[in-house]
Amino acid sequence: MNHSTKYIFVTGGVTSSLGKGIISASLAKLLQARGYKATIQKLDPYINIDPGTLNPYEHGECFVTDDGAETDLDLGHYERFLNVPTSQANNVTTGKIYQSVINKERKGEYLGKTVQIVPHITDEIKRCIKILGSPNQYDFVITEIGGTVGDIESLPYIEAVRQMKWEKPEDVLVVHLTLIPYLSAAGELKTKPTQHSVKQLLEFGVQPDILVCRTEHELTPAVRTKVAKFCNVVPQAVIQSIDASTIYDVPLLMLEEGFDTVVLQKLGMKNKRKPDLKKWNQFLDRFKNPKAEVSIGLIGKYVELKDAYKSIAEAFIHAGAENETKVNVQWIHSEDITSKNVAKRLAQLDGILVAPGFGSRGIDGKIEAIRYARENKVPFFGICLGLQCAVIEFARNVLNMKDAHSTEMKEYTPFPVISLMAEQKSISNLGGTMRLGAYPCELIEGSKAHKAYKKTAIEERHRHRFEFNNDYLDMFVEKGMIPTGLNPESGLVEIVEVEDHPWFVGAQFHPEYKSTVAAPHPLFVGFVKAARLESERKQK
Ligand code: GLN
Repeated sequence: MNHSTKYIFVTGGVTSSLGKGIISASLAKLLQARGYKATIQKLDPYINIDPGTLNPYEHGECFVTDDGAETDLDLGHYERFLNVPTSQANNVTTGKIYQSVINKERKGEYLGKTVQIVPHITDEIKRCIKILGSPNQYDFVITEIGGTVGDIESLPYIEAVRQMKWEKPEDVLVVHLTLIPYLSAAGELKTKPTQHSVKQLLEFGVQPDILVCRTEHELTPAVRTKVAKFCNVVPQAVIQSIDASTIYDVPLLMLEEGFDTVVLQKLGMKNKRKPDLKKWNQFLDRFKNPKAEVSIGLIGKYVELKDAYKSIAEAFIHAGAENETKVNVQWIHSEDITSKNVAKRLAQLDGILVAPGFGSRGIDGKIEAIRYARENKVPFFGICLGLQCAVIEFARNVLNMKDAHSTEMKEYTPFPVISLMAEQKSISNLGGTMRLGAYPCELIEGSKAHKAYKKTAIEERHRHRFEFNNDYLDMFVEKGMIPTGLNPESGLVEIVEVEDHPWFVGAQFHPEYKSTVAAPHPLFVGFVKAARLESERKQK
């Protein structure tokens, strides 16, 4: 790398939910496909230190990195697009910024000065952005600023962008994502909200270099010219982002619009080579032309909010494409399942996944669903709490341990088959105190897991407090629930499988976090394959 790191900021205007994460990931993908190294960072303007303590209803899934950071779900998109792991440094919140500044103040590091938003908070923001730029590991650091321009909470971030642009105009670029709504009564696309949003940015001293315009209809040349004129950008820098049938089409749409070319031009970077998207296109081709179809039930308690299981849904897309199979995910609320209706509710499914989760709500339905899958030999995949429920179900219905439970749901149970890890017992703080991040796991040769991974040493990401209670291990093994993945250092059970079943796998870790377009997760691939066999069996 013989140039300084380039910083690209992505801000949002007009409304939230325009898809800044996907636009950022798509741009990074195109730059990567041209041979550059790019990373993406998310700055979140809320005061929580991280989203780890947030209810999924508030903010969707909490994504976990290898180094154990609990982060915004957009980091999942970054990894799925780029196939490069993110870390603590890729997600910064206002809470973290203030915590760090206040800690420095308490240590006397500001030498008696009054500590203020400008320069101290903005300096800390800039430090967190530049961490990724040093020691020159990336050609591009793309920083997505959460929220919408004009929100009180994002002001210090916009000010930090203004300062960085002022300090190094040749290395900094601002992309502003806005909405061009279509008014059906008038039959017209309207540019005024975009004009206003750019004006607002200008009030804060930031002139965007590129406008990405979300729209439901093609932008006419007249609309493009108008936006360019009113917002002081060249017409080529008005990029249309039309609604796509899948997020994985967005990099290709951005390529057609010349988004990456304008970015490179504006930053004075050489157009290294044409983007190599061969693998990406192969994936899209398989995804869009499936040869078979399966129905998989996702049993969880946040099913009305699909963002709560974002990485699982995406992992099914990757594994489906790999199997050339369309995966129809049926979102089933665990509270709706009872012993009476379970057979009827789940009869048409080719596979059953029990989702991660916390607390006792909906547990009974999950256990019923697992019993159904185990007894009827329907492929089953349990993730984290899903594994724990599978262990509870097996204890109750096979080992005759009536009332067996996890101590998370029932502190005093006669059979605590899932219990708190010793090191967790004294912890009272809720933030960042779980078993978090990547841990090694050794697989037993010949197991379903081993067949899926095709190796015995793996590493997977965790996010939980409770564990399989090894005091009961022998009893489980005797009756056919086998630990096929173990932590080589602690002996903790990371995977269980049920013998004499086509595919029954529970994982204590979260495989979904590591599934990407370039590397679909082996366990999801194995599960979809098993579901496909089940669907063929059903059709016979
Ligand atoms: N609540 C369980 C635990 O803390 C499972 C967590 C999860 O599913 N992520 O161990």
